[in-house]
Amino acid sequence: MQGLDQIKIENLEIFAHHGVFAEEKQNGQNFYVNATLHTNLRLAGLNDDLTLSTHYGEVSLFIKEKMTEVTYDLIETAAERAAEAILLQFPLVKALELELRKPHAPIPMTFESVSVKIYRSWHKAYIAFGSNMGDSEKYIADALKGLSMDNRCKVIKVSDIIRTKPYGGVEQADFYNGVLELDTLYTEGELLDRLHELEQAAGRERKIHWGPRTLDLDIIFYDKEIYEDDRLCIPHADMQNRDFVLKPMVQIAPYFRHPVYGQTMTQLLQALEAGKRSNYGKV
Ligand code: ATP
Ligand code: CA
Ligand code: CA
Repeated sequence: MQGLDQIKIENLEIFAHHGVFAEEKQNGQNFYVNATLHTNLRLAGLNDDLTLSTHYGEVSLFIKEKMTEVTYDLIETAAERAAEAILLQFPLVKALELELRKPHAPIPMTFESVSVKIYRSWHKAYIAFGSNMGDSEKYIADALKGLSMDNRCKVIKVSDIIRTKPYGGVEQADFYNGVLELDTLYTEGELLDRLHELEQAAGRERKIHWGPRTLDLDIIFYDKEIYEDDRLCIPHADMQNRDFVLKPMVQIAPYFRHPVYGQTMTQLLQALEAGKRSNYGKV
């Protein structure tokens, strides 16, 4: 992760039993872990205070615990689980690189080592929520609760809920809208799946585009990413034209800068209100 300091643990030796073969599970072998923790060390360094840093001894013991409490077939899985556990356990660690080496892997040839190396981090997402059917306030509260209870998500801020007139010309009740800031371990696609599950839990049916809905959860931003695949467009393609997204964004993140348009939330809202949005492709 750019701009962050690092704590490195190199070649931590751990005797464990991961492997596809029965002998590996039975006999065990030495594994070696390289971990680079991305974190901010400024305050700890200025104050000479361990409580402001992450204790590498504790992290090392924790990695050993995670590598030995469950036996996996794959070093991919052992690495994935350990990386996620570290991000969940040590809040100052924002990202990490974890390499798991297996020098005694069952390959009938001369070799030094095989390894997997993964990079995992917390991501910051902004999610817009909306509802205009049924008990809107309850659907929104339930979705917030669902995200708060998911250990791969931390709800950081929630805007006020605003009442707005419906968008897109379909006759329907007023909307309840807002946005929230989320720290998450999910990838973009996993986050969309999770949001769809929460929409389903609110009984959402997809009938009319822009029609009435119990709950709509859209990913507005995911880090500063510009990302698209066949299911997702990030940043949300039309957010710059929607005051019911921009107003709550201005409330919780006025200086957040749109990675495509280069303008802050405050500037985008001002431009929208001044009617200067002709060049931003209204959908
Ligand atoms: P709009 O996206 O214009 O607000 P909508 O929210 O009413 O419209 P939905 O029917 O809820 O549209 O979603 C249709 C599909 O949009 C989703 O299944 C998803 O695959 C896709 N999609 C693309 N980009 C995003 C995004 N940033 N967040 C959520 N869904 C997205
Ligand atoms: Ca939407
Ligand atoms: Ca949607």
